[in-house]
Amino acid sequence: MTEILKTTLTTWIMVSMIAGALFGTFINFQGLEESAFVQEFLVEGVFSVIGAIFISALKMLVVPLVFVSLVCGVTSLGDISALGRIGCKALILYLLTTALAVTIALALAVFVSPGGDYILNSGGESFTARPPPLLSKVLTDLVPSNPIAAMADGNMLQIIVFAILFGVSMTLVREQGGRIRDFFSDLNGIIMKMVGLIMYLAPIGVFCLVARTFTLQGADVIMPLAGYFLVVITSLLLHAGGSFSLLLKLVGGLDPLIFFKKLRTAIAFAFSTASSNATIPATLSVVEDRLGVKKSVAAFTVPLGATINMDGTAIMQGVATVFIANVYGIGLGMSDVVTIVLTATLASIGTAGVPGVGLIMLTMVLTQVGLPVEGIALILGVDRLLDMVRTAVNITGDATVTCIVAKSENALDRDIFSDPAAGVVQASP
Ligand code: ASP
Repeated sequence: MTEILKTTLTTWIMVSMIAGALFGTFINFQGLEESAFVQEFLVEGVFSVIGAIFISALKMLVVPLVFVSLVCGVTSLGDISALGRIGCKALILYLLTTALAVTIALALAVFVSPGGDYILNSGGESFTARPPPLLSKVLTDLVPSNPIAAMADGNMLQIIVFAILFGVSMTLVREQGGRIRDFFSDLNGIIMKMVGLIMYLAPIGVFCLVARTFTLQGADVIMPLAGYFLVVITSLLLHAGGSFSLLLKLVGGLDPLIFFKKLRTAIAFAFSTASSNATIPATLSVVEDRLGVKKSVAAFTVPLGATINMDGTAIMQGVATVFIANVYGIGLGMSDVVTIVLTATLASIGTAGVPGVGLIMLTMVLTQVGLPVEGIALILGVDRLLDMVRTAVNITGDATVTCIVAKSENALDRDIFSDPAAGVVQASP
């Protein structure tokens, strides 16, 4: 019994994720997913209700956590000019890694050429292309005309802008700033405690979310699209295991094995919720407590990454474009490939970190290269499973860039990074 209590929370989360996948696959494999008991009691009952409560509990923390952490992060920075430097480094790395991700995906997709033997039967779904956002609109939208509305809408970029301005002003007004700083630092402690408490729900929440998806999505959904599915998964693994590991090692001088081992908890959150945004509390707590990144960097780069950095999504979009072109028998030239890299990188900025949005943004990429947006109906069936894996890659990208930027700013504590016990949470409070 005491051994069970000593098990870490991460282990429980991993166990429940695997158990959920096995349980759901078993039900689906047995063909039980149509039965009234499974549908009403499990899928739409227990799994849906507990899963929804877990996701809402995470989302509940995102806005207060990002705002308070960022205010504390900016005030602890001391040197305000460092903010611009951190922002530029993060932005450049986010864009470069996304462009690299699509390039890997396109190379693999063109090589394997999935979809050539796909039998086209129109699913009857119709899609309207989403126009690319205007740069002027993107820029004006950065500044909230009403910060409370920005918080109510969960508009992450606007919250980031307001929090930075608030933190900078707090540093500039010395006396009052000091009093409010103490208040925010206490508030931050309370919110981090809330994150910690909700983490204890994770094993049950993760089990329900994963079991629900696997119950509904069986091998019969994947088989007709096996080529597409496998190319996306392989590209995601190549980018996560290859590009991120190399970047961590060569640019950051950090051990990728330690990084991945510690990031497992956040990866499990991303996989089960399929939402980078809902995963922000988990990513922030792993990056700060377990990987040793200072709040002054993490509080800025993690929410920014969850909003604009979507390497996994860009990978799916690259492979999907080649797949749809193949199915419709339309050839893609070199200029199309360049267009796909650029559009998918930009689409990634506009993709909100919530489930399924990557597929909507795919309409933008397809339109740019003149492919029929209806093609999306073909890949709809397997998108939920791919969304889970690509979201895990999206947040891994955020954490990778955060560690590299922190390292270059001397804001990463190597002792915490290398200590296997740092920030470990036991399964019982
Ligand atoms: N679910 C993804 C995320 O939250 C976005 C997407 O690709 O749909 O990161």
